[in-house]
Amino acid sequence: MKYVDEYRDPELVKRLAAKMAEVSRTPVRFMELCGTHTMAIARHGLHHLFPPTVEMISGPGCPVCVTATEEIDRAILAAELDGVIVATFGDLVRVPGSVGTLAQRRARGARVEVIYSPLDAVQLAAENPGDQVVFLAIGFETTAPTAAAAALAAQAQGLDNFSLLPMHKLLPPAMNALLSGPDLGLHGFLCPGHVTTVIGTAYYQEVVRDYRLPCVVSGFEPADVMASILMLIQQIEAGQPRVEVQYGRAVSTQGNPQAQAVMNQVYRPADAPWRGLGVIPDSGLDLAEEFRHLDARERFDLEVEPVGDPPGCRCGEVLTGLIRPPECQLFGKACNPVNPVGPCMVSAEGTCAAYYKYRRD
Ligand code: SF4
Repeated sequence: MKYVDEYRDPELVKRLAAKMAEVSRTPVRFMELCGTHTMAIARHGLHHLFPPTVEMISGPGCPVCVTATEEIDRAILAAELDGVIVATFGDLVRVPGSVGTLAQRRARGARVEVIYSPLDAVQLAAENPGDQVVFLAIGFETTAPTAAAAALAAQAQGLDNFSLLPMHKLLPPAMNALLSGPDLGLHGFLCPGHVTTVIGTAYYQEVVRDYRLPCVVSGFEPADVMASILMLIQQIEAGQPRVEVQYGRAVSTQGNPQAQAVMNQVYRPADAPWRGLGVIPDSGLDLAEEFRHLDARERFDLEVEPVGDPPGCRCGEVLTGLIRPPECQLFGKACNPVNPVGPCMVSAEGTCAAYYKYRRD
């Protein structure tokens, strides 16, 4: 397949690894900000190819993982209401809240439908006029425009039985929170290709200006990731931090203006709770005034109390690069993919799931 196969070429990956070993002199610690990068590194064993000078740590880039326990509790509360169908992406049904999971509620009769696109939720509402459909609007800037488009579609169709539970998160405020938190000894960021496709690269210029940390926007195939890390190393060795885009086949500096426009039409920035990072100002999205009637929190009584992580679970530290999954005492024992304790073991992009499946270092 054009634009994919060439980035999976093992010979190219080996050549990039050799180049890394040749140019890397300074010990460096980079953070990958996207769960898809975490999974790509683990699945393809790329960490075995890094020179000993290069360390990669994972950040808060998995949308399911950063969802706070109280947000899961609120979704469960919605699923327990008579006449409500909760529509959600698949990973979320197995994430434990403080009162169990959506999957457990579904087993007891709650109506929880797994969907593949926000527009599926709109269709569900159209097909079930006697029920209320609550769509769990989760994800970063990548998925927020599609949820916004679903809100517009429901409005255009005159559906009064569709609402959203806003759970979106925004990447730049989370990066700011990370950078103003405990010193992680970072030397640069492997930046997410998908999010940057929407938001563009302007924010990373601020990171370079304020923190002198290189930022490289990377694709997701093995050669993409290796080439991007090589670019980070070259910036460090040259002493010239800057923003570079390795994923040029999808990312432009200005991002996607249409996606930004639909997101800005439907949503407004709002404070949001993050697992591991607490409440970060303006790091989430609430519905704008003219779409407030589509907010499930307004339509139903969905009050919940903030709660902490499950006992013993250290997802918050995993998500902020403070520990690696094997440092959690529950890893691979009480917590495993069949019986996950925290979201980092549930999600297909979760760091704990990546380590459990592919690595134990
Ligand atoms: S191993 Fe399980 S309990 Fe421990 S941090 Fe990861 S998800 Fe949480």
